[in-house]
Amino acid sequence: MSGESGELTHYTIKDGWFREISDELWPGQAMTLRVNQILHVEKSKYQDVLVFESSNYGNVLVLDGVIQATERDEFAYQEMITHLAMFNHANPKRVLVIGGGDGGVLREIVKHESVEEAILCDIDECVIRVSKKYLPSMAVGFQHPKVKVFVEDGFKFLAAYKNYFDVIITDSSDPEGPAESLFQKPYYELLNDALTEKGVITTQAENIWLHMPLIRDLKKACSEVFPVAEYAYTTIPTYPSGQIGFMVCSKDADCKVDTPTRVTDPEKEKELFRYYNAAIHRAAFVLPTWARTFLSSK
Ligand code: SAM
Repeated sequence: MSGESGELTHYTIKDGWFREISDELWPGQAMTLRVNQILHVEKSKYQDVLVFESSNYGNVLVLDGVIQATERDEFAYQEMITHLAMFNHANPKRVLVIGGGDGGVLREIVKHESVEEAILCDIDECVIRVSKKYLPSMAVGFQHPKVKVFVEDGFKFLAAYKNYFDVIITDSSDPEGPAESLFQKPYYELLNDALTEKGVITTQAENIWLHMPLIRDLKKACSEVFPVAEYAYTTIPTYPSGQIGFMVCSKDADCKVDTPTRVTDPEKEKELFRYYNAAIHRAAFVLPTWARTFLSSK
């Protein structure tokens, strides 16, 4: 199947099924989703962009052959990567998203009344354009008056900011491809410099069933930059092995990131969120024994 501009290199729809095959990222396994119809195929400047309507998960965004978001379960990821950071800051006013081109994290950020400025920087205008057309329940985040959008490499964008953001969320694709630099220590140092005194970050940090050595390296790199650096995770059916995690770091050495700094009353919580709540905030940091042991090993 060729996109609007040239042959796609990652394209695995066969016999009416999308297959998420990656020998590097999840060898020997593959999430498959039944395809009702293909909605968009394009080779952007940075990645292969595919959107299809699935039989049971709504519209699905795929970049370089990797599922980024489905309409049915995206909230499990968008809420946790956002609110594990936002509820670890007493009064977040200026918030930045690196990546997040589907708009879902922006949608979550503006639920916090303290927010005065929500900036998003994604490297690929194609993802933003395609999300606005085919993923309206996520792209609604772009419509908010407090939101400003930049199209640039997040690594370069960050270098221009010092002591400016209260929260920075790195909602990137995997380290294979344009997001590679966002999983390395120099990037965490840029995050640290761009944050205000008690600033908090979350970054996409892969899966304990598949990527323990990488997660240990991420935690080590984050711990060398931030006084507090912990791994937490969410459950999400369409990500490999049904789980994905986050590094949650704070510049405030006294911040207990596994305990929300502020909480919403339970009724309001139910109104605002479908996945996040104060109890699951705490539970997200509780790891299975093998993972906890591995992460504490050198
Ligand atoms: N929830 C997904 C996940 O966990 O894999 C991520 C979704 S979001 C669509 C990923 C975004 O990261 C994409 O829009 C991609 O263009 C963006 N991205 C990748 N590398 C980037 C970079 N260096 N700077 C800014 N955005 C980047």
